Amino acid sequence: MRSIKEPSRYLPIVDSVDVVVIGGGVSGIAASIASSRKGAKTLLIERYGFLGGMATAGLVTTIPPIHYGIGLEMERRVKELGGMGTKGPFWTAYDPEVLKFVLMDMICEAGVKLLLHTLFVDTVVEDGFIKAIIVENKSGRQAIEAGLFIDATGDGDVSVSAGAEYLKGEEDGSTLPMTLMFNMRDVNLKRARPFLNAIKSYLKRSVENKEIEFSLGIESYDGQPGVIGAPLVHEDEVTIWGGLVGGLNGTKAEDLTKAEIVARKHALILANYLKKKIPGFESAKITVTATQIGVRESRRIVGDYILTLQDAKDRKWFSDSVARIKHGKWDYYVPFRCLTPKGVRNLLVSGRCISAARDVLLLTGLREIPACMSTGEAAGIAAALCAKQKIGPRKLNMKLLQQTLVNMNVFQPA
Ligand SMILES: Cc1cc2nc3c(=O)[nH]c(=O)nc-3n(C[C@H](O)[C@H](O)[C@H](O)COP(=O)(O)OP(=O)(O)OC[C@H]3O[C@@H](n4cnc5c(N)ncnc54)[C@H](O)[C@@H]3O)c2cc1C
Repeated sequence: MRSIKEPSRYLPIVDSVDVVVIGGGVSGIAASIASSRKGAKTLLIERYGFLGGMATAGLVTTIPPIHYGIGLEMERRVKELGGMGTKGPFWTAYDPEVLKFVLMDMICEAGVKLLLHTLFVDTVVEDGFIKAIIVENKSGRQAIEAGLFIDATGDGDVSVSAGAEYLKGEEDGSTLPMTLMFNMRDVNLKRARPFLNAIKSYLKRSVENKEIEFSLGIESYDGQPGVIGAPLVHEDEVTIWGGLVGGLNGTKAEDLTKAEIVARKHALILANYLKKKIPGFESAKITVTATQIGVRESRRIVGDYILTLQDAKDRKWFSDSVARIKHGKWDYYVPFRCLTPKGVRNLLVSGRCISAARDVLLLTGLREIPACMSTGEAAGIAAALCAKQKIGPRKLNMKLLQQTLVNMNVFQPA
C-alpha cells in the first residue's frame, strides 16, 4: 500500500486524571461509576453523543437477569421510569431511550467527567507504560494523561494500540455474524406474539419460493437467534433481529460500511415482508433502526490469563477471582488476570473483549450485558484502588480488591 509521512507535532494535554475509561458501553459505564465512587478522578470517553454502546446504539435491549452491583441500580432506575418490560426468566426488555437517560444520569451523579463525541485514536507508550492517550474530536487532536486506563471499547482498541496481543474469532479469524436490530410499533401483539419465533421459517420458505429477495442469514447460528422478533416494553412494540451478516470484519471500516449498506437495505425488505405476511404486523412501521450494526464478536485481548471453557465448567475458583458470572446454567468466576492485558503495565480491559477463549465468550454469557457490567465494575474498583495507592494493577492486593467488591455487592464468592 502507498503511504504518506505524517509530520510530527506537539499536542495539547487537555486533561490529566487518575483513571480514563475509554468506551461508554455498559462495561465502561460500570467501570467509570465504580472508579469515581471509589474516589478516583475519572474521565469517560465516548465517540457517540449518548451512552450505552450496543445496549442503546445497537438496540440490544433484551437483557438477561442481572445479579450484582451497578447493573441492579440501572435496572431499578429504568423500571421506575417505566422503561422495563415484564421480567422474564431468560431476559427482560428495556426501553433504549429510557436506558440512555438513566445511564447519563448515573454517570453525572457519580461525578464522572464525561467527554462525548470523542474518538480514541492512539496511545503514547514507553516501556509498556501508557503515558497518554490521543483522542480526536471537533477541537482537533488532543492528549489525555492518567495513571491508569480502562479499555472498554468492546473491540480492544486501546489495548491493541498499546501493543497488547489479541485473538479474533476462529483460527481463520472468522467471527460471529453482525446484525442490524430495528424496532417496530403499531404491532397487534395479541395476534403477532405466536408468530414471532416463527418469522424465520416463514421467511425461509418465502425465499425458497422466490417470493422475496433476502440474501442475509435467516436461521439461528452458533446460538444467535437468526431473524426473529421479541416483544419490547410497550404493548404495540417489537424488536426485530434483522438477519445475519457474515464474513465481514467488525474492526475494519470498509467491512462495517458494507455491512451497514446491506443490512439497512434488508431491514426495509424485512419490515415490508412482516407487514404482508405475519398476522398482527399489518399496520406496523419501523420506528427506529440501530445507530450502528451490531458487532457480536471482534478482538479478545490476551491477558495474563486466558479463561477457558473448562474453568467455567469446573466453576474454578482463582485466588484473584473478581467477577462471578451467572447465566442460565452457568455460574463461574473470572480472575483479575483476564483484565490485565499482557505486556501493558497500567491498562485494564473490561466487557466484551476481555481475555477469554472464544467458546467461553460465545457459550457462557460472558459477552452478555450483565457479565460486561460485572467485569467493568471490577476493573473500575481495581483502578481506583491502584490510583489511591499509586501502584500498577499487578501490585494490587487481591484480597483487598475482593473484599471491596464483596462489600459493594459487585461480587459474591462461593
Ligand atoms: C446483534 C446483537 C444481539 C445481542 N443480543 C444480546 C442480548 O439479547 N442480551 C445481551 O445481554 N447481550 C446481547 N448482545 C451482546 C451485548 O450487547 C454486548 O456484548 C455488550 O453490550 C458489550 O458491552 P461493552 O460495554 O463491552 O461494549 P460496547 O457496548 O460495544 O461498548 C463500547 C463503547 O465504546 C465506544 N467506542 C468504541 N470504540 C471507541 C473509540 N475508538 N473511541 C471512543 N469510543 C469508542 C462505543 O461507541 C461504545 O459505546 C448482543 C450483541 C449483538 C451485536
